[in-house]
Amino acid sequence: MSLTLEGVVLSPGIGIGPVLPLVPLAFVETGSLLSEEERGAELGRLEEALNRAEADLVRLQAQAEKTLGADKAALFSAHRLMLRDPMLVGAVREAVAGGRSASDAVVVKTAEIRALFEALPDPYLKERAADVDDVGRRLFRALTGHVDPSDLAGREGGPFVVVARDLTPSDTALLDPSRVVALVTEEGGPTSHTAIIAQSLAIPALSAVAGALGRLIEGTVVIVDGLKGEVVVAPDEAALDAGRRAAALFAEERRQAEALRDLPAVSADGVALPLWGNIARPDGAGEILSRGGDGVGLFRTEFLYMGRDEAPTEEEQLAAYAEALTVLSPRPVTIRTLDAGGDKEIPYLASLVGHEANPFLGYRAIRLCLDHPELFKVQLRALLRAAVAGNLWLMFPMVVDAEELRAAKALLDVCAAELEAEGLEWARPAKVGVMIETPGALLMADLLAREVDFFSVGTNDLTQYLLAADRMNPRLKRLQDPFHPAVIRGLSVVARAAAAAGIDLGMCGEMAGDPLAIPLLAALGFRELSMTPARIPAAKKVLRSLSVAEAGKRLDEVLKAVTTAEVRSLLASWP
Ligand code: PEP
Ligand code: MG
Repeated sequence: MSLTLEGVVLSPGIGIGPVLPLVPLAFVETGSLLSEEERGAELGRLEEALNRAEADLVRLQAQAEKTLGADKAALFSAHRLMLRDPMLVGAVREAVAGGRSASDAVVVKTAEIRALFEALPDPYLKERAADVDDVGRRLFRALTGHVDPSDLAGREGGPFVVVARDLTPSDTALLDPSRVVALVTEEGGPTSHTAIIAQSLAIPALSAVAGALGRLIEGTVVIVDGLKGEVVVAPDEAALDAGRRAAALFAEERRQAEALRDLPAVSADGVALPLWGNIARPDGAGEILSRGGDGVGLFRTEFLYMGRDEAPTEEEQLAAYAEALTVLSPRPVTIRTLDAGGDKEIPYLASLVGHEANPFLGYRAIRLCLDHPELFKVQLRALLRAAVAGNLWLMFPMVVDAEELRAAKALLDVCAAELEAEGLEWARPAKVGVMIETPGALLMADLLAREVDFFSVGTNDLTQYLLAADRMNPRLKRLQDPFHPAVIRGLSVVARAAAAAGIDLGMCGEMAGDPLAIPLLAALGFRELSMTPARIPAAKKVLRSLSVAEAGKRLDEVLKAVTTAEVRSLLASWP
């Protein structure tokens, strides 16, 4: 039997090919010291290398603009700014003037700045440590004449399965899908650039594959199964055959799904079920359209608050919200108010929160916002002003009862009155809704439904809270499954409440983009599903061949299932 390694799927698909390990650059100092006379020439060499590295970035940006589009290529302009930032280059020049070789100075200063970023609690800023490292290594290569590891054009053989400890943002952005069939990394999470870029290039990718670099030897053929989350090493003929068939099936399904892009999101029996995208920044709106989506079901605004020292101003937020609303107008854009706390730490808000033994049960999201109107009103005012630009659905997160909802709506009214008195342009949101993601909201759903225009179920948190299982704890995998019968029954409670009150019912948790879930959600009465934009084509394919009426007839058996496995296997047997 061949060896199988397990990993976490960053980008779905199946890739088969020989391993190409990207062995890390020997990015280490040599300890050599310069005499006084040598230092001037070394500074000159440094300037030349800076120019070369910059020219590289300009070229790479142009290349990425063609393959990935302007928003993803913007990574390279960010790297150009970092390259010229005095924090790095000033420190390197100073070290050279003090007698270090330029390459040693780059190694040391990059490590120092990287460590500063890594020490920050904000996950967005932490990930920027990888960009600092990337820029430092580029400058080091320009100084030492090393070849760029992602430059696969000159390599014989392939296409390859690229194996690395972690890929730098620019390595991933430049991967040529015709030379790379899959990516396997030891590190890098689902919010990493690797995940985002691999998905948009449609390259299967797995991360968290323990010991991949040591265990996957150059040239060994592997099957990277980005559906099951495993790497099969040196498969026999039968396994290879099965792998090839699965890859061909997946490719065919993807092709068929993408061909549906411009067709409406309607089931085979005529039920309209709009497919929307989840975004974290306004420039994500464009990808939703290019994937054939109909709107935004979740704009996670907390990301606008990350990677900076203070909360974004009203004008900054207005610009971000208006951009997404304008790009998608007249389609709906559901903007969720600040969901800080839990896993989404925002360092400058930490003093408001204080130390917490259980951050997921803590002072977060709407709780924090309602206690700090000076913070919340800035966002609510920006949203009311942005509503002029398009079809805004405003949504409150983590609500547990009507008191919170009423307080949030009252503050919205206060902001509206202020804007009116100030003579600023504003509009009411087209709809105001709540996320159903706590057991409190679930059990109060029939009452909450009387006070909102829509519900959007957040299954990521709802699963965590219903099953009392931290969504970040890798040991609790079994309980992080939204197909657990307790969650499925919860969904049916919410659906009944929404139907009785005649309000819109959507879902924006990860479950919404799972092809296995879509027939069930349609049968339960969900009428908007919002997902990672890359999942929209496959979801549309499932939807367009689905009979919602037929699914409805089988709903009861799923609601009576006793175990998660039973729920899953019943759904897998639905036509
Ligand atoms: C959810 O909880 O399901 C959700 C969509 O919100 P987030 O993942 O941002 O907590
Ligand atoms: Mg949530």
